[in-house]
Amino acid sequence: MKITRLRLLGFKSFVEPTELVIEPGLTGVVGPNGCGKSNLLEALRWVMGETSHKSMRAAAMDDVIFAGTTGRPPRNSAEVTIFLDNSARLAPAEFNNSDHLEITRRIEREAGSAYRINGREARARDIKILFEDAATGARSPALVRQGQIAEIVNAKPEQRRRILEDAAGVAGLHSRRHEAELRLKAAEANLERLTDVLGQLN
Ligand code: ATP
Repeated sequence: MKITRLRLLGFKSFVEPTELVIEPGLTGVVGPNGCGKSNLLEALRWVMGETSHKSMRAAAMDDVIFAGTTGRPPRNSAEVTIFLDNSARLAPAEFNNSDHLEITRRIEREAGSAYRINGREARARDIKILFEDAATGARSPALVRQGQIAEIVNAKPEQRRRILEDAAGVAGLHSRRHEAELRLKAAEANLERLTDVLGQLN
């Protein structure tokens, strides 16, 4: 799935509605220091489900909302939308009825954030798996943060394997397996309780 557009509203320094068209081929973002280049990459990671405010260079997740400047009041919400070309139908089955996917994450001050896929409410889990299956996501090795190369060089073998698995698009399978294991544990606990109750009845 190709990312075709990114739309920001009230995210960090992008207080005005801003739309970035990502054409096929190489896209470069250039600009003076502090103009918001890293904020753009963070917006991309954030809409794909980033949960760590630290990796957004923020003291709390609310700090991704435009904080105001002299003469411009702060905003109370921020929204980022990513547009994906799904003409190859690579999205999970439940979202595969459309050529285009529009994924939005919106945060309200002190109320947390919520996701929508093509206008319908979605869970963070749906977003995570959708991007993992597409071999990308908030933690994708394709989005290289400052200092990340050194981290990879110094990483332990298991951490490096994780990076390769992310790139190969099998991370979604790990998430599904983890969920299945949790459900299995819950079923086992229920079974145990049932056995106890049956024991008391006999
Ligand atoms: P460099 O080339 O130095 O790495 P850059 O172009 O990557 O810079 P960013 O780090 O993306 O720039 O943007 C930093 C700017 O974003 C700063 O001016 C900072 O004040 C502004 N900024 C960050 N968070 C917010 C926020 N919540 N509200 C308003 N402005 C913000």
